[in-house]
Amino acid sequence: MSTIFSRIINREIKADIVYEDDDILAFNDVNPQAPVHVLIIPKKEIATLNDLTEVDAEVVGKLHLAAAKIARDKGFAEEGYRVVMNCNEKGGQSVYHIHLHLMGGRQMSWPAG
Ligand code: 5GP
Repeated sequence: MSTIFSRIINREIKADIVYEDDDILAFNDVNPQAPVHVLIIPKKEIATLNDLTEVDAEVVGKLHLAAAKIARDKGFAEEGYRVVMNCNEKGGQSVYHIHLHLMGGRQMSWPAG
């Protein structure tokens, strides 16, 4: 089942793209929760974390490598940042195409905020 993120990958919907390679696309979240809030997604359609299989291990690793690279490029890698992947309803997932949230530029707290 395709989502709005497939339409962003296919350039049917505009997004503010910050990183792209053969397997991954990263773009600014339309409703940012931090001064920098980037969504990093695989180009392959995978609905949730529960749907990952062994063959997806490499691309999921690449999502994290891209997060660290973007954090370095944006200049907040050393001060710190947060990466989050929500899963299903109680995890707060609203778009069913896996994505890493990269948030930086403010102090994060835990568990809320
Ligand atoms: P989730 O709630 O699934 O973990 O995160 C989905 C994220 O996608 C939300 O932070 C939401 O603001 C973002 N989002 C939803 N639709 C769009 C869109 O069309 N463009 C962009 N750039 N972000 C979107």
